Amino acid sequence: MNVPFLDLKAINQGCREQLIEAMTQVLDSGWYIQGKSLEAFEQRFAEYCGTQYCLGVANGLDALTLTLRAWKIMGKLQVGDEVIVPANTYIASILAISENGLVPVLVEPDSQTFNLCPENVKRALTPKTRVLLPVHLYGQLADMPALLDIATEHQLLVLEDSAQAHGAAIAGRKAGGWGDASGFSFYPGKNLGALGDAGAITTSDPALYDVLKALRNYGSHEKYKNIFQGVNSRLDEMQAAILSVKLGLLDSQTAHRQHIAEVYLNNIVCDEITLPTLVRSEQHVWHLFVIRTANREALQRHLADNGVQTLIHYPIPPHKQQAYPGLQHLELPITEEIHEQVLSLPMGPTLTVEEALYVAKVCNSFVSKG
Ligand SMILES: *Cc1c(COP(=O)(O)O)cnc(C)c1O
Repeated sequence: MNVPFLDLKAINQGCREQLIEAMTQVLDSGWYIQGKSLEAFEQRFAEYCGTQYCLGVANGLDALTLTLRAWKIMGKLQVGDEVIVPANTYIASILAISENGLVPVLVEPDSQTFNLCPENVKRALTPKTRVLLPVHLYGQLADMPALLDIATEHQLLVLEDSAQAHGAAIAGRKAGGWGDASGFSFYPGKNLGALGDAGAITTSDPALYDVLKALRNYGSHEKYKNIFQGVNSRLDEMQAAILSVKLGLLDSQTAHRQHIAEVYLNNIVCDEITLPTLVRSEQHVWHLFVIRTANREALQRHLADNGVQTLIHYPIPPHKQQAYPGLQHLELPITEEIHEQVLSLPMGPTLTVEEALYVAKVCNSFVSKG
């Protein structure tokens, strides 16, 4: 049996007719940027996340970068301020911070969930700390109640990186609805994926919304009147229309991912493999199903030899990247161990239970010679 890591083509074929209809409507409207499809998607996604506002932008990195920039414009942040972020995140979270002249303070994650650890956050606080940037890694919501308590006590802003966690919730409160603002990515492989690049910011702060609305569009609310030195980071009508179709399918796709995760959790039994930790079921939307093993190379080869495609999220932590020579001195043993041991099994809305059982069987037949 061949099990691909993620079959994007099959996922989008599943709603082919609806997508073609939505795209045809945009094509025939003659209006391709900042129109009704964007407005409709923004309204639906804000409602979905439980926020007052949503702003479509060009991608997830821009969502994070522009939010921090807006807070600088609003006088809430200044160059040199510190942003606490998990050390084991995807590079985009760090890029958004450094791009703004802010200082990323990398902290070790919780060793079970790999998410921002409240105790480590407390230890990393300094008089220059202004922002907490939790990342809902692999689709599991960080411990937001505890992190919000810290933020309230120390008057910190909270920016969620929700790029992997569309729909994940604690007590019904979803990713994107916890922080002062949240960045989302709709990169094709994300749980809510466009057919190209796309992203969004959610917030319930009208002042932030106002600044961001201009910032993403050349710093302009009114054509040819520029109040900020803005950028061009817009979510176009075609992608917005596509995303509205796919948002309608998200909850059932999430339920499927949760079911597949259950199959893995109940059927993978192998001394060499540590399964992911699930705090509460609604808290995890399983963007990725990430196992750990001390013999990753051998396990990945064993799976590949049996037709199972796996990926590594991520092989090199941000502080070991050439792009950040200033972070190389950091010693982050938990983060480094995570990057040496993680392996992502196939996961997605078109993966069948039969395929998942096969993947589990292949995992269980792994015996390393180490
Ligand atoms: C995908 C991702 C991003 C960036 O999103 P893009 O749309 O690719 O710019 C940011 N943070 C995390 C955690 C991601 O997984």
